[in-house]
Amino acid sequence: MRALIVEDEERLAHNIGRMLEEHTSFAVDIATDGEAGLYMALGNPYDLIILDLMLPHLSGLALLEKLRAAGKATPVLVLTARDTTEDIIRGLDLGCDDYLTKPFEMAELCARAKALVRRAYNRPDPVLKVGDVEINTAVRTVTYRGKTERLPAMEYRLLEYLAMRAGEVVSKTDIIEHLYDFNSDRFSNVVEVYVSSLRRRFGAQTIQTLRGQGYILTGGRT
Ligand code: CA
Repeated sequence: MRALIVEDEERLAHNIGRMLEEHTSFAVDIATDGEAGLYMALGNPYDLIILDLMLPHLSGLALLEKLRAAGKATPVLVLTARDTTEDIIRGLDLGCDDYLTKPFEMAELCARAKALVRRAYNRPDPVLKVGDVEINTAVRTVTYRGKTERLPAMEYRLLEYLAMRAGEVVSKTDIIEHLYDFNSDRFSNVVEVYVSSLRRRFGAQTIQTLRGQGYILTGGRT
């Protein structure tokens, strides 16, 4: 999963980013003004946008309006100052999916972020069951044939993303775009490395490769 934070208070933006990276499976990009935020939001397949409303160059509401007008359905979580019911209503009317008023608890932001993404992928149950593999997205553990464990971060990110899209063939480009932020090294062969480790853990049949198309998570059952 990959999130874009559009927030001009840089310290807050980085705190949110760090919390998401530590407590969820999001890769995180940050934009510190509305124009940069819109440009990044239109050009990348984000799973979530966390959007401050008071932004330089382009307001959060204007960004949201342009994003929806461009046909982008990315879930948007609005951050707003206290006592601005009007902004909240306008935000909801313009197509935001959820909001938090500042100051907010980081734990609540992380929980809402995860819930929005589950909803977007049509996965109301936080436990994703695919074949013999069960992924608990709330606590980020994986249970395989009765044994529960915590995976290295990138292996977990890959498994969770494939599980969100279970039953679909997921291309390597999609995987790279949803697992890595702009600052990470995106050597495409690392995807194969993580796929191999997941197969070693959960059996060779867990993830099938469709040549030239991508990967499909079967959880060992076809
Ligand atoms: Ca602001």
